[in-house]
Amino acid sequence: MSQFKAVTIRKDEAGVQSVGFATLADEDLMPGDVTVRVERSTVNYKDGLAVTGRAPVVRRFPMVPGVDGVGVVEESASDLYAVGDRVLINGWGIGETHCGAWAERARWKSEWLLPMPAGFTSDEAMAIGTAGYTAMLAVLALERHDIRPSSGPVLVTGASGGLGSIAVTLLADLGYHVVASTGRPEQADYLKELGAAEIIDRAELAAPGKALSRERWIGAIDAVGGQTLANVLSMIRYDGAVAACGNAGGLDLPATVAPFILRRITLYGIDSVYVPKAIRLVAWDRLDRDLDRAKLARATTRIPFASVIDAAREIVEGKVRGRLVVEIG
Ligand code: NDP
Repeated sequence: MSQFKAVTIRKDEAGVQSVGFATLADEDLMPGDVTVRVERSTVNYKDGLAVTGRAPVVRRFPMVPGVDGVGVVEESASDLYAVGDRVLINGWGIGETHCGAWAERARWKSEWLLPMPAGFTSDEAMAIGTAGYTAMLAVLALERHDIRPSSGPVLVTGASGGLGSIAVTLLADLGYHVVASTGRPEQADYLKELGAAEIIDRAELAAPGKALSRERWIGAIDAVGGQTLANVLSMIRYDGAVAACGNAGGLDLPATVAPFILRRITLYGIDSVYVPKAIRLVAWDRLDRDLDRAKLARATTRIPFASVIDAAREIVEGKVRGRLVVEIG
């Protein structure tokens, strides 16, 4: 394949961004030692930010978005991968500084790739994608803090989104009492099917609150940030912890130190993009062991490549439920 279809984000001389499908050639591929025929990708919130230009995610133009991909190695100058190997990629700046996976063909660095985890199909690996593997990184952070199912209830914010859906599923199946915060009451049945024991309205966490509020949860996985995260911190039980993963509700954090110094709580930062390979392998191994494939399928919608730009616009409007798998080729 010397020519291939890709989504590109371009910026003109006046700084105006445009997005569309383009036919690219091999000379458009960026430096790397492994060339991959992409089979599947996903739509993550970050892809939505890139496509809409709502946040400065893209730092090189033109850019092919898509922070997750699976595919088959077509050319390799690396000892790690041979032609025909199936590989997985999440993050490392693809879709931001290096062309990503919304293309039939991509060239990446071998150190960014993982061998396709044996326990997953391509569709399942992308149904998990960055959002799902980040949810597992957050679960691992709570476990490191020794938060166990018997410790008390755990909150998930942005619960019906991609990261939230996988976090609810993982925590519930591990035995935690999961409280799901959502702005979409019509998704209550869906969240209960994934394992949520209680549903709360995200409006409860949205207004400016007190420095310390009633202690409610021993832990939380937060996809929202902003005032929501500040309020969650004020409601965490003594010695509890929060894994801060996202900013769907804002990048700011209008909080006080009170919960830290009076309730000894901990705030863990979760990053999926530059996490070392060893930690990724642990997360994917735990996903293989702990994630219910039927619930994963329940949380997943497959979309054709042609719909990916529209889907990216919808995700930043909070209109996407669960995870989207993009059929590239
Ligand atoms: P989704 O859009 O699928 O999920 C976000 C959810 O947050 C929505 O479904 C909605 O849930 C809720 N939400 C949306 N807008 C608002 C708002 N204005 N106020 C409060 N809640 C809101 O995105 P992803 O699951 O892909 O990502 C979630 C977040 O995590 C994003 O901010 C993303 O950038 C971040 N992220 C970070 C990673 C990292 O490495 N740290 C990796 C992956 C994602 P509901 O309708 O149920 O309320």
